[in-house]
Amino acid sequence: MLQLPEKLTALKPYDPITGSYTVRLDANESYFDLPLVLKAKIADRIEEIDFNRYPDPLAAPAIEAFASYYNVPVDCVTAGNGSDELISILTSCFLQAGSKIVTLSHDFSMYRFYASLYEVETITVQKNDHLQIDVDTLIAACQNADAVIFSNPCNPTSLGLPRNEIKRLLDAVSCLVILDEAYMDFWDQSVMDWVNAYDHLIILRTCSKAVGLAAARMGFAVTNPRMTGLLRAAKSPYNCDAISQTIAATVLNEKELLQHCRDEIIVQTQRLYTAISALVKRYPALLETVYAPRTNFVFIKTAYAQEIHQALLEQGIAVRCFPNGLRICCGTRREHTLLLNALENILQPKD
Ligand SMILES: *Cc1c(COP(=O)(O)O)cnc(C)c1O
Repeated sequence: MLQLPEKLTALKPYDPITGSYTVRLDANESYFDLPLVLKAKIADRIEEIDFNRYPDPLAAPAIEAFASYYNVPVDCVTAGNGSDELISILTSCFLQAGSKIVTLSHDFSMYRFYASLYEVETITVQKNDHLQIDVDTLIAACQNADAVIFSNPCNPTSLGLPRNEIKRLLDAVSCLVILDEAYMDFWDQSVMDWVNAYDHLIILRTCSKAVGLAAARMGFAVTNPRMTGLLRAAKSPYNCDAISQTIAATVLNEKELLQHCRDEIIVQTQRLYTAISALVKRYPALLETVYAPRTNFVFIKTAYAQEIHQALLEQGIAVRCFPNGLRICCGTRREHTLLLNALENILQPKD
């Protein structure tokens, strides 16, 4: 049989939940689809595309819209096929086989996935019992590493490090610092305005969460112009297709709509958090704690994650299961009602 590297043959395909569930709160997507008038506007613009021509390699209109919405310089932004692709490029091109990257546990699984694929060694720093990052421990781990990457606010814990703590990290380490701000629309501690002050800072953002474009696969890296030049040179030239570029450019220019959706998601997530806090108080033997979220999802720490996850699936409700807890994404009011009723049913003592 053809010999292939074990790093490849040992891989298992990514296994998203695919069954038909009535309530989908497992993927941290926005629960707002685009308004029909905006979809029509996008359709008109897509009609104008020359489909026989390659797309703009720099995705200029999308980058301009992104830069304007987030108030960052255009020459600090690179577009990717989802921030996932940018994580892959950073791991393969800004590091090399044998490099060391610091990751945290628990955090987004793709960091370790790409590190292992590109033979980059991971140094894992554990979070404390309250799932928080100890910046001094992180700084110490970075001393003999080439890079550090983590999500802020964090998927799956929903917690975040404030700007002053990020500053402490940036001032203390000289390795590459990759901050994945996929959920920073829901919190106000972005450090995108620091990319020109630090030569080792790269920030990742995505259109898949607050912007509500998970279907379009558009992510962005924000870093100083020198690193932006390197990233643009390293990526595949036509990484973002013309349709996704058009969708992102159109939607990122709808500032009021985006802010409205974001604000609404924050309010609904707080409601979900309050309701689940009440459940935690009622069933302390089953649910350990729920954390005040900085994201569009809540994380419940529980030793019964598997059991509750399975029981929810049986009632048509999908959430994300981790060994020590459940991650539940913000949905509509109706979805929250269905979820909370189901949880109540599952948790209440049976006789
Ligand atoms: C969802 C998510 C992303 C987004 O990835 P895309 O490829 O842009 O859809 C990136 N990082 C984290 C931590 C996420 O949770």
